[in-house]
Amino acid sequence: MDNDETFMKQAIELSKLAVAHGNEPFGAVLVKDGEVVFTNENQIYTRHDPTFHGEAGLIREFCAQTGVADLREYTMYSSCEPCFMCSGAMVWVKLGRLVYGASNTDLEHILGNEGCNCSALVFDNSFWHPQVTAGVLRDESLAVLKDYFGTHSKG
Ligand SMILES: [Zn+2]
Repeated sequence: MDNDETFMKQAIELSKLAVAHGNEPFGAVLVKDGEVVFTNENQIYTRHDPTFHGEAGLIREFCAQTGVADLREYTMYSSCEPCFMCSGAMVWVKLGRLVYGASNTDLEHILGNEGCNCSALVFDNSFWHPQVTAGVLRDESLAVLKDYFGTHSKG
């Protein structure tokens, strides 16, 4: 298993924990120099904050706790493609690299919607372009999303 799969597995585990904690199934892991430096899971319901997604929440907490606000040397692993808001946050912190599992289109198909390649739409139209690797452990990521959104609506 390569490093991308190892860290993605951790992001997917966090997405399951998010559900166990009463939130939506999304997790994110921040890595620098091959080491995990921060993790976060979706907390939109328990924090009463619809913007506390896995990735945006991670960025806010990590930057606030460490004082680091430039993430060009970091890689974020996200269990599912980041939404428009989280992709925008990745531009503002100049994230070096993004790796995600299932795509937004995969997620939206579960919900009966069309979806789009939202991270690319943001990055391609921004001043900062993180490197992107898509579809890592996509099936595992998708299984968690299907399990949850088969019986829950999206918040
Ligand atoms: Zn988001």
